[in-house]
Amino acid sequence: MNIHEYQAKELLAKWGVPIPKGVAAFSVEEAVAATKQLPGPLYVVKAQIHAGGRGKGKFKELPATAKGGVRLAKSAEEVGLAAADMLGNTLVTIQTGDAGKQVNRLYVTDGVDIAKEFYLAFLVDRATGRVACVASTEGGMDIETVAHDTPEKIQTFTIDPATGWRAHHGRSVAAALGLSGDLAKQAADTAAKLYAAFIGTDASQIEINPLAVTDDGKLMVLDAKVGFDPNALGRHPDLVALRDLTEEDPAEVEASKYDLAFIKLDGNIGCLVNGAGLAMATMDIIKLNGAFPANFLDVGGGADKEKVTNAFKLILADPAVEGILVNIFGGIMRCDIIAEGIIAAAKEVNLGVPLVVRLEGTNVELGKEILANSGLPIVSADDLGDAARKIVAEVKKAA
Ligand code: GDP
Ligand code: MG
Repeated sequence: MNIHEYQAKELLAKWGVPIPKGVAAFSVEEAVAATKQLPGPLYVVKAQIHAGGRGKGKFKELPATAKGGVRLAKSAEEVGLAAADMLGNTLVTIQTGDAGKQVNRLYVTDGVDIAKEFYLAFLVDRATGRVACVASTEGGMDIETVAHDTPEKIQTFTIDPATGWRAHHGRSVAAALGLSGDLAKQAADTAAKLYAAFIGTDASQIEINPLAVTDDGKLMVLDAKVGFDPNALGRHPDLVALRDLTEEDPAEVEASKYDLAFIKLDGNIGCLVNGAGLAMATMDIIKLNGAFPANFLDVGGGADKEKVTNAFKLILADPAVEGILVNIFGGIMRCDIIAEGIIAAAKEVNLGVPLVVRLEGTNVELGKEILANSGLPIVSADDLGDAARKIVAEVKKAA
């Protein structure tokens, strides 16, 4: 789960991380009013979307020459103009894809004078089972470019969570950033606090870009991207409250209400499967037969009629879906119960696309018989390969 920059900064500030003062705003009026709470005379107006590259981004509704989603302003009036330019408009950055993201929230911050920009991030490193710390002197720009063109400018080391943060880790960060004296101390101190925040919030990512040195020699976090391990959210209700559902795929939000593991994809064949492994295999075999899955969907082991109906609705809400492949292994759940669930669901949702069903497991013969006698145009399949071939053929026939 990701959160907005302003939420991330408010959170990190609680852990003692140095952050410029800022106020979140949801309207032009609020953005202008925010300047009264800031020292000025320089302000930064920042579009809040769950994507980076905002500074270099472009608004769909504005001329190509217009500035991006991070703008410096020298007065309350300029803040108002920047806010009016951004709110409600669609920002396209290298991370949003062509569709871009609508800007509904802004963050108005105290503008600082930057002497140097660094990059500093903490991530879960699955290969070592540790926390990775990534530091680079090349902050401000996108780190992927640095990694590609000048990988030697990125330094990575790992921290063993069992022993935690040590003074030498702080010295490593300072050295990686080429700092000495007081700035080295500040870097070590900030990195230690970021590590504590990372562990304390069960974060999966804390990315600071830029970590800036100001003209008056202070280290400041100017941009923060923070994401959390969804499996740990149960013990962080305060973090769950920061979730912005408008930043997530509507179908995936809907699916989470019914406890369905659903991920939207770009293809035309909807998949309704029980078990994540079987769902992956189903998507693979659809591709092998020359078509593309419209989604990943695992209805889980104990899928009842209601769950199957909601799953059908979810799949059919996608206008790109031209056919559905149901692939269910009846283990705990008997195939005859599943067949009845499929029929009830298909009737309720008024199925308008071909439906191929492959059942296997307990009471499979009875399940197939129920499907055959349903009077619905359901195509029955014998195995996974047969099912994939049939749904691809049915969709071609219908086109
Ligand atoms: P991103 O483009 O989405 O990564 O957004 P950032 O928050 O990183 O802002 C992009 C760039 O705007 C930064 O790399 C800085 O160069 C600049 N910027 C952000 N805040 C300030 C500020 O307070 N003062 C100045 N002078 N520049 C800033
Ligand atoms: Mg940034």
